Amino acid sequence: MTQSSLPFTQSEMHPSRWGNPALAGPLPEAARGLVEMAFGLDERAAIEAPAVPACGLGDDVLSALRSVLGDAHVLLDDDTRRLRTRGKSTPDLLKMRAGDLSDAPDVVVRPGTHEDVAAVLALAIEHRLAVVPFGGGTSVTGGLAARRDGFAGLVSLDLVRMKALVEVDKVSMTATLEPGLRGPEAEALLAEQGLTLGHYPQSFEYATIGGFAATRSSGQSSAGYGRFDALVVALRVATPRGELRLGSSPANAAGPDLRQLILGSEGAFGVITEVTVRVRPVPVEKVYEGWRWSSFEAGATAMRTLAQAGLLPSVIRLSDENETAINLAHPDSIGAEGAADCLMITGYEGEHDAVAAKRAAVTAVLEGLGGRCTGEEAGAAWAHGRFNAPYLRDALLDVGVLAETMETATFWSNREALYTAVKDALTAELGDGAIVLCHISHVYETGCSLYFTIATKGDADPLPQWLRAKAAASDAMMASGATITHHHAVGTDHRPWLTQEIGELGASILRAVKADLDPTGILNPGVLIPDA
Ligand SMILES: Cc1cc2nc3c(=O)[nH]c(=O)nc-3n(C[C@H](O)[C@H](O)[C@H](O)COP(=O)(O)OP(=O)(O)OC[C@H]3O[C@@H](n4cnc5c(N)ncnc54)[C@H](O)[C@@H]3O)c2cc1C
Repeated sequence: MTQSSLPFTQSEMHPSRWGNPALAGPLPEAARGLVEMAFGLDERAAIEAPAVPACGLGDDVLSALRSVLGDAHVLLDDDTRRLRTRGKSTPDLLKMRAGDLSDAPDVVVRPGTHEDVAAVLALAIEHRLAVVPFGGGTSVTGGLAARRDGFAGLVSLDLVRMKALVEVDKVSMTATLEPGLRGPEAEALLAEQGLTLGHYPQSFEYATIGGFAATRSSGQSSAGYGRFDALVVALRVATPRGELRLGSSPANAAGPDLRQLILGSEGAFGVITEVTVRVRPVPVEKVYEGWRWSSFEAGATAMRTLAQAGLLPSVIRLSDENETAINLAHPDSIGAEGAADCLMITGYEGEHDAVAAKRAAVTAVLEGLGGRCTGEEAGAAWAHGRFNAPYLRDALLDVGVLAETMETATFWSNREALYTAVKDALTAELGDGAIVLCHISHVYETGCSLYFTIATKGDADPLPQWLRAKAAASDAMMASGATITHHHAVGTDHRPWLTQEIGELGASILRAVKADLDPTGILNPGVLIPDA
């Protein structure tokens, strides 16, 4: 077992902002002018460190937790509890900025082993405590905002100590990782063995292995490496009913695949304590380039052609005309001259020969369909800024601009209708002054995901404004026959739409599994599972 050499060294995020506080800053000058023109500047102060409600747990409960984990791993201080309150959606940030800490946990506990987790769950059952598994805290769907009514208290089960690379099997090319490893920590441990996972969501720097599995995350390189759920071969889970070990062979026909019940279960069925994933050799070469398309439609057709020909690069994304012009992928360049066409980024990762062969084959297809390669500059700019865009959201909130994202997916034949329906719903709700951007973020043979970004002048209280827009867009997704989420998961925010997507019977299956694995309902109450 190899421990991460980076435990606790990465920065904690500010409770009401994204990312490394040292990298956060005001709006870049070029953007400031544009934002002023579009929405006006309305400086808004945020409450920096809102007061945390007192811990409501009795000494008996705290002593019991301490006897299992040790005093050092049962934390009651305000800073820790504030930092373990909710996730990083815009509503989460707005609530924190307004000083609302009503979802703060009573206590933060830090188990170090699977057995510790199991012991905490047993205590939670005994003392009727709600338990919220906490990975990187990057949920954008209210996955960390569990209901506390009916419980004696709320425990944040912080997996930050479980950061080991448990085992590597270089023959089978698998690695077993503990859930608390953040993206860079997991990659650093694997790189020491010449391996990579290749999972790079935009939240990579903070999100964890357990969180990726619990939310069925998808990364920027998932076209090449696969979605996170496709990378998982085995799981170890602590449930209130006992241990589950799933995945004893690369593939099987031993009934329904129970791994799929845990992947995406968002802490409602159990706590994932080990994840075995497929790994690849560290790529020798990584190269990204830009392509221009005369329209979103033309670029989307090219993506579909590549996917259906089995020719997807490691990275492929396509911005619509608005997103291309604003270029949110690279905030420093906002305000740069935009064109009325659409930017596609393609990226290749692997051995030199494989990269060259794939690149040549993709280039031939894209040129044949009318694409114009603009070279590596646009690709390098995207790669350089790929994790930076979220910082911009805080800078926009600071000047009174509401900014948020949402995503969905559908089959190719429905892509355009879905795109139009969601855009229209957002514009109808937010008004013509709102900017609605979209890109195709993930591509499959049969369809793709659409990722929307909105920016608009914030109301005095922007939260209800956003919730109305989000509801309208979610209704439009459902009416269009698309999914409520391609990779952000369900949490509390998408739960009202889940039954529409999976049907009453589907919802009842989820409730039945929950009732079996978590009969007293302590795990993430109110998250994922639709009410009867
Ligand atoms: C700026 C930004 C960009 C993002 N970009 C992407 C993206 O590109 N792709 C993408 O897929 N998502 C993205 N997300 C969403 C988010 O990062 C993912 O959902 C991520 O997988 C969550 O991981 P986490 O470790 O932060 O989990 P958390 O936010 O801590 O938890 C998420 C949910 O999983 C549960 N959970 C966490 N760990 C465990 C565990 N070990 N066992 C059981 N349950 C657990 C929690 O209780 C919660 O319900 C983004 C979010 C932000 C804020």
